[in-house]
Amino acid sequence: MIQKLEGLKTTLWSGLAVSLIIVATLATQHYWMTKVNFIEQVLMGGFVVGILFSAQFSRSRFTLLIALCFGYYLLSKNVFTGLDFLNKNPQWLYLSTIFILAYLTLIKDRALISMHGIARLIGLGFCIALAKLWLMAMSWLQSYSIRNSLPYLNIELIIINFPLFIVAILVLFKSLRQPNLFVSSLLTTLIVGNLYFNDQISLPLSIMFSLLVLHYIIVVVIDSYYLAYRDELTHLPSRRALNQYALSLGRKYCVAMLDIDHFKKFNDNYGHDIGDQVLKLVAAKLAEVKSGGRVFRYGGEEFTAIFPRKTAAEALDELEKLRQSVADYNIVIRHPIRKTKKSRQNNQAESLKTVNVTISIGVATRQAKQSFEQTIKQADQALYKAKKKGRNQVCQ
Ligand code: GH3
Ligand code: MG
Ligand code: MG
Repeated sequence: MIQKLEGLKTTLWSGLAVSLIIVATLATQHYWMTKVNFIEQVLMGGFVVGILFSAQFSRSRFTLLIALCFGYYLLSKNVFTGLDFLNKNPQWLYLSTIFILAYLTLIKDRALISMHGIARLIGLGFCIALAKLWLMAMSWLQSYSIRNSLPYLNIELIIINFPLFIVAILVLFKSLRQPNLFVSSLLTTLIVGNLYFNDQISLPLSIMFSLLVLHYIIVVVIDSYYLAYRDELTHLPSRRALNQYALSLGRKYCVAMLDIDHFKKFNDNYGHDIGDQVLKLVAAKLAEVKSGGRVFRYGGEEFTAIFPRKTAAEALDELEKLRQSVADYNIVIRHPIRKTKKSRQNNQAESLKTVNVTISIGVATRQAKQSFEQTIKQADQALYKAKKKGRNQVCQ
């Protein structure tokens, strides 16, 4: 099956975590209420730390987001007589925020101190200008409808809700489509921000911003961890995670090397992009390994499975099941089809197609005094044997 809602889990987890934090904050109000002054001071440092931290980790969208929160917070604290401005233009600010969240959803993390930084600033300016234009258009429409006595046009209802609805759909769609903690955190910001400004969450602004900045910093940490230890294509733990995991293994374990058969030919036949799709789906199958096994992407079309506290003989059954499940797997791929006259008429840009691949597996038990690398080498030799014997099999 093609996985279209790959971001569902990330979105749900992110939403659940933020909801729990807000509920916990509301429930512990009596504890922190007396310390709000102190929290306000810490928050000032929090903004600066958040900006520097996200910039250091090249998460420029977070840098922009936290800087904007900082700006808003300073305005609300009446720095540069900003409170006056906020009170006079609540709708403009509200809409600008919504448009900026949509804009941040669509752009990539790029170095801010570069031409991209200038483009980002222009983009933000555009969002603010668009908000103003929308408000002006709505107010024109309102006076037009009054002048011409159009009774059913309720401008007040759509002035904010319509852009909000469109942006919410966009962010939700992006968040569900691909696992992306940044987009999920924009979604939670949009929801929490709306609840807050509609007085559904009664927290002081400083507490609200403290939670948001903390949330962003945690997301940067988790995201960076994933970047280092998760493979981007398959989302399996990476080679680096494997090496880290090897350090925690005891004396008894076995290592299996799994390799997709004739994958070069597969790429030649179907193209690299479809090869990537298949790699991803095979990886998802391998991730279902049981018997306490763990699968990593070793590199290319090769995977490593580790079974702690098991010998090769004990893991054999499970490996055989894995091999069989891949061989039986009718992989549905999105296959771009050439734009013929007929396909254009049907408005079809891609078709579905079923393909099959097999894997060969070599497994080795860790011997006394053997290093992890030596065991891997031994499993590699067993894999070579499986390939030589005709592929699509498990060898020891
Ligand atoms: P064998 O059965 O002997 O393993 O044959 P093979 O063609 O699978 O082995 P070989 O090592 O010669 O080629 C591996 C191929 O895997 C080369 C490359 O085209 C493909 N490959 C490796 N990594 C990726 C990837 O990330 N995406 C795609 N699409 N292909 C990859
Ligand atoms: Mg290979
Ligand atoms: Mg191969």
